[in-house]
Amino acid sequence: MTDRSLILPITCGGAIIAHLQDSFPEEGCGLIVGRETGDGWLVTEIVPSPNQAEARERTFEIDPGLRLRTQRTARERGDAVLGHYHSHPYGDPVPSETDTRRAADEPELLWVVVGMRWGGTQGLAAWQREAGAGTMKRVMVDVIEGAGQS
Ligand SMILES: [Zn+2]
Repeated sequence: MTDRSLILPITCGGAIIAHLQDSFPEEGCGLIVGRETGDGWLVTEIVPSPNQAEARERTFEIDPGLRLRTQRTARERGDAVLGHYHSHPYGDPVPSETDTRRAADEPELLWVVVGMRWGGTQGLAAWQREAGAGTMKRVMVDVIEGAGQS
């Protein structure tokens, strides 16, 4: 089995970055909607969430009601919530220890982490909890031309 990648339309990547720049210097977060394909996961929609954490400069909490509503509307067109994204203000696009621990709750979810500096982007990377191991495995991101729905 070859490694599968996250296939990210350029408009969806742009929507993630624009939202995280707006949230800076706090952490921003949102949902990644799409479908599984033979090659990996095709992103079709980005759904920004308010960060409901109290300490937004160092953690994030996606709105659970938004997640339920997004799951429902995605399912109607054969899509699913594939994962979520969040930023690391003044940090790297690498899951923190807290992220890695939280990923164990739902190991199928993809985690997109964006490192930020002074409002600029330092890189975007996708990760998934590795079954059986206590670590996150990097998932390749293929940026493609064309539009998702956001
Ligand atoms: Zn994090």
